[in-house]
Amino acid sequence: MNNPKLQAVRGMNDILPDEAQLWLWFEDTVRNWLEGYGYRNIRMPLVEPTALFKRAIGEVTDIVEKEMYSFTDELNGDELTLRPEGTASCVRAVLQHNLLYNAPQRLYYSGPMFRHERPQKGRYRQFHQVGVEALGFAGPDIDAEQIVMCARLWKELGIRDVTLQINTLGDASSRHRHREKLIAYFERYADQLDADAQRRLHSNPLRILDSKNPAMQDIIAGAPRLMDELDAEAVEHFDAVQAILKSRGIPFEINPRLVRGLDYYNRTVFEWVTTRLGAQGTICAGGRYDGLIEQIGGKPQPACGFAMGVERLLALIQEDGMQNPPAGLDVYVVHQGEQARDMAWRVAELLRDDGLRVLLHCGGGGFKSQMKKADGSTAVCAAIIGDDEAAANVVMLKPLRVQAEQQRVDLADIRQKIRELIK
Ligand code: ATP
Ligand code: MG
Repeated sequence: MNNPKLQAVRGMNDILPDEAQLWLWFEDTVRNWLEGYGYRNIRMPLVEPTALFKRAIGEVTDIVEKEMYSFTDELNGDELTLRPEGTASCVRAVLQHNLLYNAPQRLYYSGPMFRHERPQKGRYRQFHQVGVEALGFAGPDIDAEQIVMCARLWKELGIRDVTLQINTLGDASSRHRHREKLIAYFERYADQLDADAQRRLHSNPLRILDSKNPAMQDIIAGAPRLMDELDAEAVEHFDAVQAILKSRGIPFEINPRLVRGLDYYNRTVFEWVTTRLGAQGTICAGGRYDGLIEQIGGKPQPACGFAMGVERLLALIQEDGMQNPPAGLDVYVVHQGEQARDMAWRVAELLRDDGLRVLLHCGGGGFKSQMKKADGSTAVCAAIIGDDEAAANVVMLKPLRVQAEQQRVDLADIRQKIRELIK
């Protein structure tokens, strides 16, 4: 019998310690940024009833048609799915726990999402999103605020070369009118539509506009525009969003073809796009979804949100040459001898009491080989302890990153001396 090597599932990545440093820095930055706008963290399960996504995202979307990891719970027959996105779960949790009872909510979450896609650069089967949702807000101010806050984040992350595209999908009545016109238009070109478009012609013709097939572009270019069907309220809402963006100095481009991949959007939709990641150029996408809460069984409430693709953002940051922030260590404790070992443990814990980051040498070996490891670490100094030092209750402190002699330090003074070295 052959014994195939066990490897991670295709399209699902390990994030190794060197790279994880960048993730940690990113996560800290994002968390501070969100708190700066009054968003609060919420955490939902990775697995939800399949019916939730079918109802929220829509049966005739890429995600529900072909990208979900769905399975039957063998124990009780429940139909379950690994979450492909977070909005549906977030709204489900908010309704289940009645969080909108007396106040709107600004919420965020982050974590892995799962979609069965063809893996390529910037497109994975397990990928990570930071999702931001404002629930219970009707006005254009919250749409604009979410866009403005993105612009701030790009600055804080040092990301350049992203552009903002916005569009409005109008409301149900205008979408309905537009849908009828689209179907009539595309029916005239039925023999030139690709298989995807033919399938969507009657189920979800709006999505044909989103097609990436070059052969379809001419037909799409001539299609009736939703812009021409908008109701006055939707126009007013969209104008107000644009006015705030202009007053905040945020450049944008109106892209009438921006329809988004999920069914639940209405009115404002937006995407932040870069040309630097090849075909996978959308790093952040979102918009208003006033119908979703009711669709999932709640009392109708407006809402607006967006999600960022973490892998794509980090790829962009790395392209800009950002170095991984080093894993910080303050002290490497070197020790040899039995009394020394006992003292080394005490010293390491004492320093940790003080908030220092300490690596206690484990695995034995002589001073020389231990010092080599200390040098190769990121520690700022080595605390060296032999049995002589242990007997005298002192530590030899050796700076590792600057030229300086080692010094003999009383145990009572060690924290002070180390603080002087690392500042
Ligand atoms: P795309 O058109 O690239 O498939 P999407 O419309 O399916 O994107 P959303 O559902 O809006 O994407 O998800 C928000 C963001 O999450 C995307 O803009 C992208 O940055 C990221 N994202 C989506 N799918 C993947 C994936 N398979 N791998 C990595 N990142 C992804
Ligand atoms: Mg997709």
